[in-house]
Amino acid sequence: MSDFILSRRDNKSKSKTSKLNEIFSNWQGEKENWLFISPHDDDVAIGSGILLQKAVSEQINTTVLIATDGQMGYCSETQIANIVEIRRTETINSFKELNIENLEWLNFPDGNLNSYMGRRRALEDDYGSIYDHTGLQNSFTYYFRKLKPTRIFIPTGEDLHTDHKIVFQETLISLFHATSQIWPELGPSLEKFPEVYEMAVYCDFNGLPDIKIECSEQIFQNKMNAIKSYESQKNIIDKLVGKIQSGGPVEYFRDIRFNLYSAAVYQDVF
Ligand SMILES: [Zn+2]
Repeated sequence: MSDFILSRRDNKSKSKTSKLNEIFSNWQGEKENWLFISPHDDDVAIGSGILLQKAVSEQINTTVLIATDGQMGYCSETQIANIVEIRRTETINSFKELNIENLEWLNFPDGNLNSYMGRRRALEDDYGSIYDHTGLQNSFTYYFRKLKPTRIFIPTGEDLHTDHKIVFQETLISLFHATSQIWPELGPSLEKFPEVYEMAVYCDFNGLPDIKIECSEQIFQNKMNAIKSYESQKNIIDKLVGKIQSGGPVEYFRDIRFNLYSAAVYQDVF
């Protein structure tokens, strides 16, 4: 039996497969290049720890982009001074469990992404500075143009955590920047708009998911070990591990379809 079983909700025959190219639309073969965006270091292991292992098994170039530095994640006073370094080590150990090596940190302040929405000139010693500018739209546009992902996966914008909501909305607007001519110092514009998917971390999707992936017990245990690697994050370990374990070896993903306004949409309503 295969370690992975995939299915699509809109597939009328409900047939299952072990191959990504039979599930993900507009498959680009060897050009497939996946980017997972994690507001905090632990989100992607929780929401996509199974899919990440499947991507690795099909030798898809896969990168994880971590938006924040984790500075607000201390659970004891002794951790305040070095929580960023502690979490950096835990993150590397976690992704080793999933065989993911390509990790990039944007280094924005954990819990304070609202101060880094948009793009502005960076101040001296500012967070997340690239080409003398800072802000999530600056960093995302730069990395989207640099990495040229064919698919992007992000935690759903339904999550209540402000950092998650901001990363979600800044990712989507940055895709429009990355495919346009604006801010040329951040790299040549993307030729193609990537496919974008939501993963579930803390809250339900705003609608039904489209893709389901199930896995073997071994693959599931790798995911659980990846999550447990964040030993400093007592809130995750204590509250979430049991829930994820009892949820079983399955993950869901939802296609994000961009609906740009056109007056024609409402023509027949009146
Ligand atoms: Zn998070």
